[in-house]
Amino acid sequence: MSLPRLQNFIDGQFMANKSGETITVLNPGTGEAIYEIEVADETVQQAAIKSARSAFKDWAVTPAVERARILHRAAALLREHNDELAKHEVLDTGKPLQEAREVDVVTGADVIEFFASLAPTQVGQQQDLGGDFYYTRKEPLGICAGIGAWNYPIQIACWKSAPALAAGNVMIFKPSEETPRGAIELAKIYIEAGVPAGVFNVVIGDGEVGQWLTQHEDIEKVSFTGEVATGRKVVESAASTLKDVTMELGGKSPLLVFEDADISQAVSAAMLGNFFTQGEVCTNCTRVFVHESVMDAFMDELVERTTKNIRAGDPMDPDVNFGAMISKPHLDLVMDYIEKGKKEGARLVTGGNTISPDDAKGGFFVEPTIFADCTDDMTIVKEEIFGPVMSVLSFRDEDEAIRRANNTPLGLAAGVMTQNVTRAHRVIHQLQAGICWVNSWGASPAEMPVGGYKMSGIGRENGIETLNQYTQTKSVYMGMVELESPF
Ligand code: NDP
Repeated sequence: MSLPRLQNFIDGQFMANKSGETITVLNPGTGEAIYEIEVADETVQQAAIKSARSAFKDWAVTPAVERARILHRAAALLREHNDELAKHEVLDTGKPLQEAREVDVVTGADVIEFFASLAPTQVGQQQDLGGDFYYTRKEPLGICAGIGAWNYPIQIACWKSAPALAAGNVMIFKPSEETPRGAIELAKIYIEAGVPAGVFNVVIGDGEVGQWLTQHEDIEKVSFTGEVATGRKVVESAASTLKDVTMELGGKSPLLVFEDADISQAVSAAMLGNFFTQGEVCTNCTRVFVHESVMDAFMDELVERTTKNIRAGDPMDPDVNFGAMISKPHLDLVMDYIEKGKKEGARLVTGGNTISPDDAKGGFFVEPTIFADCTDDMTIVKEEIFGPVMSVLSFRDEDEAIRRANNTPLGLAAGVMTQNVTRAHRVIHQLQAGICWVNSWGASPAEMPVGGYKMSGIGRENGIETLNQYTQTKSVYMGMVELESPF
């Protein structure tokens, strides 16, 4: 039986390619092929640019209140179709439906609402200069490219397009080839909401299509989410035409559990930050530093809750809270890291195997895995694994914990569990990370800017400041007095 076929979404509609090249998308929960999607060949790529260029002319001068009204409608449609969109995300990513229904679409809609509300607040300045004066205009950049990772496909497409479109830009978005559906569904919703054709085009393909976007001279900015190594390539490529870049990259984030922490809360944070979305979250606290005096209590509760409360299985089953790895190659990568952990002397406390749940036999599942007695030089402690593998490390005092937490080239997130308010602020202020949580983990509301320090990123997503990253300031000097000249 032939698979359903999807196409690129250009200028408000599906567009066929000429090359006939397709990508087959698998359901990670079953390992089965679910649909195929056409790759954006040169014809599609050229059409995407042409349509974006033409759409920009009108969208850039559409009054901000009108843009806001349309984007609010898109957010409402996302909420209306929440369950159906969540199911598409589950089929593409292998994450549990109980998560996707609560988080993925909702947090995308939140961000569209947030930037829609901000759009009409963008104002320039005016200043007198003693007769002459100047004023500034906040103008959109033009065509922006969005390139997404596979872990939160629709959310990433929303987070990138919302500020871009709110500020009057247009976007060409390339989702991960492994999870292309979410961006296509968003494109359809934008059209239904009244976003003009060409304002949000979706091109499908692998890194080559991504590279085409990052090199194209008509594209003014690239907003990228993915691995550090790919991010570096994107920055290098974007430099050839001096594009602006936003980079949301990987992490190896520390959680510091002090001796005065509420241990149950600390265990909740560590589990959320390692096992939510089966460990495929960029901000995960994969290095859990625990004060030696509370290590036993922490480990006892952590192991008990991990072995009793996590249920892997068919991600569509609403009772399942732990899904499948995105692909077989990614599962193999995660298993390689687990082997390295064992070889390098970390103590495997629980997990460490692949699993084949009765109701999801062909899926790419890895057990929630905890290593204790870890040291800073182990591979599993140094490198991003992007799977459900937690490393627990012991520490003696605050300065040591801070020094070791910062001992990484990455700086995406960090957290502190303590009942001591002074310590909480003192420690957080010394941690080199862009997203910090105190007695919490993982929440990322639309209002809060997020992004990485060090090699975890450039620029921010969400929060008021992000809108500025999608505008450029034009200064207009007004000569009101006679222009003096020595010539
Ligand atoms: P990748 O870096 O492999 O891919 C990201 C995107 O870039 C994909 O669409 C990919 O296409 C595309 N791409 C690949 N090569 C190029 C290139 N040369 N030029 C332009 N684009 C290219 O990341 P993953 O998809 O594997 O995602 C996991 C990573 O994303 C993790 O490191 C994670 O930490 C990070 N991430 C960061 C987040 C943050 O906000 N900081 C949030 C979520 C994830 P294709 O895959 O189709 O080949």
